[in-house]
Amino acid sequence: MAARLRVTTVDAGPFTMPKADLMYGARGTITVPSTVAVIEHATHGLILFDTGVNHHVADPEAAESYWGPGLREAYGAQGFTREDAIDAQLERLGHRPADVRYVIYSHLHLDHAGGMAYFPHAVHVAQHDELRHAWWPDRWTARGYAFRDYRDCRDFEFLELDGDTDLFLDGSVTVLRTTGHTPGHQGIVLDLDHHGRIAFMGDAAHLQEGLAKNVPMLSDWNVQQKLLTYGRLRHLDRSGVRVFFSHDPGHFAALPHDGDVWD
Ligand SMILES: [Zn+2]
Repeated sequence: MAARLRVTTVDAGPFTMPKADLMYGARGTITVPSTVAVIEHATHGLILFDTGVNHHVADPEAAESYWGPGLREAYGAQGFTREDAIDAQLERLGHRPADVRYVIYSHLHLDHAGGMAYFPHAVHVAQHDELRHAWWPDRWTARGYAFRDYRDCRDFEFLELDGDTDLFLDGSVTVLRTTGHTPGHQGIVLDLDHHGRIAFMGDAAHLQEGLAKNVPMLSDWNVQQKLLTYGRLRHLDRSGVRVFFSHDPGHFAALPHDGDVWD
């Protein structure tokens, strides 16, 4: 029998930045991926977890108006190319953007919601308070959100969640609320037939090292909630779930990509 879920991953937003931006007190520079999970569900079709960076950012001039002045450099996104955007990556994997049925967002920061506009026919799954906050963020975290990512998407179909959800009521995709980095951050746990339970936890932590040392990062919205979420991540690990973060280079290297699939 065919597997219920088949998963692969792509990097839809490479960044090179001071490591201290991802973990207080760290030294040196680090290049990180922005991981997008591409999930084929035998019953519910093609599902994305996060969407990476918008293609406008590949063009230095367009990036100035799309993200705002200087932000492409501030995020170290100069290495991002048109081919890295999720619409182009899906084509390479043999999918059309119109095939995507669900897009689940860890949160709506510009390295996670950049592809929203590519999927006008999908159901977009986010926490209710994350959507509200992205539209009108607290001023001190506003730089993380690019209004252009969702400005023209208000008429899309949104599934607004408030807490944990067994998405299809079959245990295959479970959404866990993991706030702290942003007000309505969430991750997913996938129950794979042959590879066990794995979790894509977005920016619930940025680096495994940050989680291990209990250190938050520069732009966390609420450090107390972030550290409570760290406890939840440790409990997932203790429960036998393999946990992956969007921007941890070691996590990305361990995941299937370039034609490989976990099922
Ligand atoms: Zn991020």
